[in-house]
Amino acid sequence: MLKNEEHLKGMFFTLFTPELSDITKRPVNVEFIYDTPGMTDFDYLSYATRYPNLDDYIGLISADINHAVDAYRAAQQRTAKATDIYLILIDGYLSPAQGVEGLALQESNIAFATTLGRTVVAHEIGHCFGATHAATSYYVDPEQFSSHGCATFMATERKEGTCARFRYSDENRGNIRNYVSQLD
Ligand SMILES: [Zn+2]
Repeated sequence: MLKNEEHLKGMFFTLFTPELSDITKRPVNVEFIYDTPGMTDFDYLSYATRYPNLDDYIGLISADINHAVDAYRAAQQRTAKATDIYLILIDGYLSPAQGVEGLALQESNIAFATTLGRTVVAHEIGHCFGATHAATSYYVDPEQFSSHGCATFMATERKEGTCARFRYSDENRGNIRNYVSQLD
């Protein structure tokens, strides 16, 4: 395994993949794809500039990344599996002007997530498997100094100083379990 890959796994994936495996009772494999034209050079940054309207933006970036993933699957002779998620891991923002850190296209099993925050990958993969913002849990942890308490992976708009609990809430664990149980 490449050193960088080990670092990325430790920072962003092993935070939640054992939990995902525990919830779904399925193995979770993380496989990195490098140097693959169409995929790893996908020009995600250009969309925010070209399409300032959010609906246009989401529609067009979705269509193009879907084509890119389809072409990749065809070239690799991979079948589309309902449990396979393609994650485009980015540095910086997906849309710098709006500070967008990630995007999940649940129906296509594709997500984008930045390395700017530790929990963005877990958050977007959570969306792909049925987790919701509404089911986030907030804790006040007496061991923590933050007055805002702590929030699980699916939190949005954390107040400055809110700490992160590296887990899904019990309700989201249920959502993920139900969703994945219906997949092949
Ligand atoms: Zn979200």
